[in-house]
Amino acid sequence: MFNLVIFGGPGSGKGTQSDLLIEEYGLFHISTGEVLRDQINRGTELGKIADSFISGGNLIPDDLMVSILGKVLDENTDKIANGVIFDGFPRTIEQAKALTTLLADRNMKLNVVIGLEVNDEELTARLIKRGKDSGRSDDNEETIKKRLQVYHNQTSPLRDFYVNEGLYAKIEGCGTIEEIFANIKSAVASAKK
Ligand code: AMP
Repeated sequence: MFNLVIFGGPGSGKGTQSDLLIEEYGLFHISTGEVLRDQINRGTELGKIADSFISGGNLIPDDLMVSILGKVLDENTDKIANGVIFDGFPRTIEQAKALTTLLADRNMKLNVVIGLEVNDEELTARLIKRGKDSGRSDDNEETIKKRLQVYHNQTSPLRDFYVNEGLYAKIEGCGTIEEIFANIKSAVASAKK
């Protein structure tokens, strides 16, 4: 079993690279953003709560997010045998600590954190471009600005957290999709040793 977090700012390529990782390693992909958008589309109570945070560019509260993730893991025990890609989780130090516990409780552990590093200018340009056809309520200029602020304030401190844990693999996130993926594969190979 090999479990990884794909980490980086909004628009850093986490989803794109996750698709390649799924294909290459047969891992189970959990995107917390997708889980929440699915709830919104289905009009559930959770979806209504999530929407109020997401459309403002804010994070869903930690305790709610952690319980959602625990549920997703428990509902998919048959699919996670090869390992999991955590995409969009953790986003706070609190969530990172909770992830360690969630995994330990299930006899699992994190093997590597793939950190896609992309500057704000590039992230903004990518998100504006994506917004033209994504239909996502949070891919507009005002919300993008807010999401970047939230990323720098609440999420980017996780980089140091995982550097200290010896789990962080820095990946240059600008370049072609194939170049970036080749670097990710090297980082996975080193983590497997
Ligand atoms: P994403 O698809 O990962 O860009 O997530 C879209 C939005 O969903 C984020 O901007 C947050 O509002 C919310 N979200 C996704 N994952 C989390 C998380 N781990 N903690 C809090 N909010 C989250």
